[in-house]
Amino acid sequence: MFQAPLPPEYMLLGAEEAAQRIRQARADLGTDLVILGHHYQRDEIIRWADHQGDSLKLSQLAAAESRASMFVFCGVHFMAESADILTRPEQIVVLPNMSAGCSMADMARLSQVEAAWEEIHRTVPGASVLPVTYVNSAANLKAFVGRKEGSCCTSSNARKVLEWALARATSVFFFPDQHLGRNVAAAMGLDVERDMTLWDPGLPLGGATPESLRRAKIILWKGHCSVHQRFSVEQIEQARREHPGVHVIVHPECSLDVVQAADMSGSTEFIRKQVQASAPGSVWAIGTEIHLVRRLQASLPDRTVFCLDPVVCPCSTMYSIHPRYLAWALENLARGTVVNRVLVPEPDRSQARIALERMLEIT
Ligand code: SF4
Repeated sequence: MFQAPLPPEYMLLGAEEAAQRIRQARADLGTDLVILGHHYQRDEIIRWADHQGDSLKLSQLAAAESRASMFVFCGVHFMAESADILTRPEQIVVLPNMSAGCSMADMARLSQVEAAWEEIHRTVPGASVLPVTYVNSAANLKAFVGRKEGSCCTSSNARKVLEWALARATSVFFFPDQHLGRNVAAAMGLDVERDMTLWDPGLPLGGATPESLRRAKIILWKGHCSVHQRFSVEQIEQARREHPGVHVIVHPECSLDVVQAADMSGSTEFIRKQVQASAPGSVWAIGTEIHLVRRLQASLPDRTVFCLDPVVCPCSTMYSIHPRYLAWALENLARGTVVNRVLVPEPDRSQARIALERMLEIT
């Protein structure tokens, strides 16, 4: 997505002045405005959020807001799209910086997925396949899944959705995150070699063989999260050496070996709840984005909480929501000018909503 440079007056804003202008614009907008902040946002942004959470929780909270007419989503583009899909058409969703995309979502484009879908069916005539997309995907991909009678999933409900899909079809085409799909399928008892095959959109027939496509229960799109692929088994071993008794908890966007070497894996909400409910004095090594880890650490001074990756690993696209962009978006809204509206056009909006609602029904 293209983001034009900010007007010079915003480019030069210092931290304190940006904070004052955000505070004032927010007060001017009153209850018409709700600010949504994803867990991976920096502290200078999250302090303004009316709601904090993962992407689906924030979209559902937005959908339940009857009074607000505008939402400013401090997250990435696919999250703002989901909020737009789940809110009423007259409610406005704004993303402060349009360049805040998601590298994982960008790894599966609609044209690629449609071509793969046709190839799979050409190679395995009469194949019974249902598509499942992680919510970390573009709205037009969710719409594709809605049209094909599949479902969305999140990192916390992926297992229920895969079980639902495999009760109705012989195989599932899962995108865009290979790791979430593999981790969940392995936890369900499926064999990585026998029951799963990888689809690499850059290779003929996705790098699969007709035999592997016929046999596979899960066809995994070759996508990944650039943040979570940094975590390794070596980091877990080092944490265990240096902190005997440490609890290791990672996000299921990490690779299978990392998830299997950890004590627990789950969504950002799951990670937060586990650490918050733990006993004082406990030690936690976490495999997810650094801003969430640091906030947990700061809010729980009687526990030791640290990131598995010793080199700071922020999500660079989340980080592109800077207070200057938030000030610019809010001041424009306060003046009656809508900037950076994220609006999913029809029929994608209705079809994507089907895929999201199906997920909510299943879970
Ligand atoms: S952490 Fe990974 S999946 Fe989440 S927004 Fe960033 S790149 Fe995308």
